Amino acid sequence: MTSQLTTYITLFCTSGILNLYLCIYVYLKRHQYTNIKNSFSLYCLSITIYCFAAAFGLTASNLQEIKLWTIVQYIGMPFSSPLGLLFIMQYLGVKVTKKRVILLLSIPFISLIMVATNDFHHLHYKELVVDPALGAPYSVIEIGIWYLVHGMHTFGCMLAAFLLLILRWKETAKMYRPQIIALMFGQLVPMVTAFLYLIGATPPGFDPVPMVLWLTSILYLWAISSSRLFTVMPIAKNAIFHSISDGVIVLDEENHLIEYNEASKRMFPRLNKTLLGKDFYTIWQDIDEDLEEFSLDKVDTSQEMKFEIEASGKIYQIRTSPLQHGDEKKGLLIILTEITELKRLQSQLEQQAYFDELTQVYNRRAFFQHCGQKLIDAKENQTPLTIILFDIDYFKKVNDTYGHLIGDHLLKHVAKVCHKQIHKNALFARYGGEEFVIAIEGDAATKGVAVANEIRMKIASEPLAVDDLVISITASFGVAQSSGDLDETLTQVLSNADLALYEAKEEGRNRVHVYSEGKQFTS
Ligand code: GH3
Ligand code: MG
Ligand code: MG
Repeated sequence: MTSQLTTYITLFCTSGILNLYLCIYVYLKRHQYTNIKNSFSLYCLSITIYCFAAAFGLTASNLQEIKLWTIVQYIGMPFSSPLGLLFIMQYLGVKVTKKRVILLLSIPFISLIMVATNDFHHLHYKELVVDPALGAPYSVIEIGIWYLVHGMHTFGCMLAAFLLLILRWKETAKMYRPQIIALMFGQLVPMVTAFLYLIGATPPGFDPVPMVLWLTSILYLWAISSSRLFTVMPIAKNAIFHSISDGVIVLDEENHLIEYNEASKRMFPRLNKTLLGKDFYTIWQDIDEDLEEFSLDKVDTSQEMKFEIEASGKIYQIRTSPLQHGDEKKGLLIILTEITELKRLQSQLEQQAYFDELTQVYNRRAFFQHCGQKLIDAKENQTPLTIILFDIDYFKKVNDTYGHLIGDHLLKHVAKVCHKQIHKNALFARYGGEEFVIAIEGDAATKGVAVANEIRMKIASEPLAVDDLVISITASFGVAQSSGDLDETLTQVLSNADLALYEAKEEGRNRVHVYSEGKQFTS
């Protein structure tokens, strides 16, 4: 064996050992390399086979042995570039589907069969003979049609990987660009070597590519080891996506459903993988039958939006946000937050803030708020607003005779009787203790007095029946009308009504008094 041959064999073996080491290394550290571990280990394994078979090929002493080692080489070599492409795809986060894997690996598989059965069809090598000038192990080939297919596939995969890297260049953070360069370089090394071999610029008689593949593998390993961002971040992002309690739905620019997280699945159990890729606007109605109120038409996909929907007795807040890459619209993000409890608490707080706990009618605060506005409107429209203030007569006696609980019952009873009696547009509230207030549109002398008398009579004629007791009560009323004066406040009108009420009490109770500019009159 010549020393030149020994050098080649040594180089092939070195490359093979290095790739075997990388294959084992990544396999042992597979928990670190998660998403690329399979493609990278298999890639290194295919090169290992390729290199060792090439090394053994150089020990061949006849054509039979050359052919045998060529077949062994093909167990690894044609698979290396598609596996390299798969690795780059996974590294860059390009979706690797089963279909794509089968498509990429089917040609290498056929190439292996073609080479193994070449003697029967000569489709891969038209001719494979021992180099007449150099002798075994060197050989001369005349390529067949399948060799071209195999060659194009090999180059195509390397070129595709190279182009993917170039496309990713712009959006790769500066600190990870050296890794992209390393990966590009890793693709270029075998491409250039193979090209030099094809144009006859390398030593004749054998394929020199395995000699340089150790460099590619080292560059690959460096790139993945030094850029954990690519291996860890997709997993981290995935974990975040699925662990957040808000439902997240992702649509593409044509509103097809691209992804949804576990929280959205919990909210709408009918969401499932078979809906992926379908038009979201049409499938939305099928997700929950109660969704008719929600129409995605109101979503403006060019800006952030917020609205609420109800579905199956629950309330959701929906936030939509356009997904953009630069100026280019990429899709829509829909974030769903269940706010049923929040809404319940909100209405409970509102209830507590504006309604009297005992009688469930408006409290003093709500009265001031609403009536303040009524007075403003009345001034603007130059129409009168009338306040009726009434107080239960001798209520203390009820408490003293029957106890506070019965007193409470009576307050509820009066509120109920009054509530039934008054018009929808009137404002009715518990003013405090056993005092109630009504605000109506209209004048005091006719409308106010009429309403007050109606209520007075109702209260008197509807005694409270509780625990075998029948308790009759009456109430006294003070009525006052807004003067139309722009400076007049609600407190002034109320105090006028209070004066009238006081007079009603003084006069003997169970009557209505109207306030009139300093003097009150009874009706
Ligand atoms: P008048 O005819 O002059 O109005 O006599 P009155 O007894 O109704 O008036 P007074 O102001 O002396 O008594 C009002 C009573 O109402 C005193 C208070 O203990 C009672 N009271 C106030 N708020 C409540 C309540 O929420 N529940 C009960 N049971 N009693 C209340
Ligand atoms: Mg009273
Ligand atoms: Mg009182």
